Amino acid sequence: MSETPVRNVIIIGSGPAGLTASIYAARANMKPLLIEGFSAGGLIPGGQLMFTTEVENYPGFPEKVTGQELMQRFRDQAERQGTEIVTADVSKVDLSQRPFKVWVEETLYLAHTVIVATGARANYLGLPSEEALKNKGVSACAVCDGALFRGQPVVVIGGGDTAMEEATYLASLCSHVTLVHRRDEFRASKSMIDRTVSNPKIKILYSHVVDEVLDVQQDTVTGVVVRDLKTGAKHTIEASAMFVAIGHTPMTDLFIGQLDAHENGYLKTVPGSTRTNIPGVFAAGDVQDWTYRQAVTAAGTGCMAALDAERWLSAEGGH
Ligand code: NDP
Repeated sequence: MSETPVRNVIIIGSGPAGLTASIYAARANMKPLLIEGFSAGGLIPGGQLMFTTEVENYPGFPEKVTGQELMQRFRDQAERQGTEIVTADVSKVDLSQRPFKVWVEETLYLAHTVIVATGARANYLGLPSEEALKNKGVSACAVCDGALFRGQPVVVIGGGDTAMEEATYLASLCSHVTLVHRRDEFRASKSMIDRTVSNPKIKILYSHVVDEVLDVQQDTVTGVVVRDLKTGAKHTIEASAMFVAIGHTPMTDLFIGQLDAHENGYLKTVPGSTRTNIPGVFAAGDVQDWTYRQAVTAAGTGCMAALDAERWLSAEGGH
């Protein structure tokens, strides 16, 4: 039986963080192996940008680019620089000793360093009509998709800082915003709440939940049916889009118990670096960032992770 080779670096996840780490690691002659993910149930090849429509805020693309095309370009660049790509979900990792072990089903890969770039996924309400209208007016990212609804009425769901931020951002673009929250109190910070409630373009509906997104028949969002939790009364809000801002979930299942995480589930990194609690394991992108969550910031930390991994490897005796 041939011995499993030990790679310099395995990168898990293929959003902007993982692919940028791949580009930099390949250029540093680390011969990276990128396990890009395979399915909607596991890691999404290309990451969350695959679910957005047009990307207008990625620097260098003044003429706009779709999320899919942007990620295809990242991937082409990573491959051209010499990244080996495996299209599969990682099933298990063992980071307790070196070399680190990464399994894809029965196949074992070994590596001196691992870059975790598995990202996060937006939480949705879980309604069938919401699922049917994703990318057709249902979005989880106002910064990505808000401009598509310029001058039109929109709805935002949630009561945290993200919901406040998205409602305020959308109020600057859209005709008006209805913010729907399930309780009669927001959990967002006081300053964000003050800014939101004082905005004349934002109407707030407390103690309401969404029962249905309209209109699946027309294949586009035309409104949202909401229910008053106190009275049970239902009414329809006319809207061209529904922005769901009820939190994100970092994709950390593989690493829980091995890598340190914050209370909110996001991986801990040493500030100013991508180092985790395990020397030789680095984390980049949304799996360790719940604040910025932009493609460009994920790409930035992906670059940092490749540089950190390369320097760590050199200090350990080179590759
Ligand atoms: P949060 O978890 O803070 O808030 C989620 C909100 O969604 C809550 O109000 C919650 O309601 C509501 N919610 C959750 N599930 C459902 C559901 N199924 N149906 C209806 N409503 C639901 O997430 P955020 O994304 O807002 O914030 C995440 C973190 O990022 C926080 O720590 C936040 O402070 C931070 N952040 C900071 C920013 C800044 O400082 N500029 C900007 C954005 C985020 P309920 O309150 O009833 O639980």
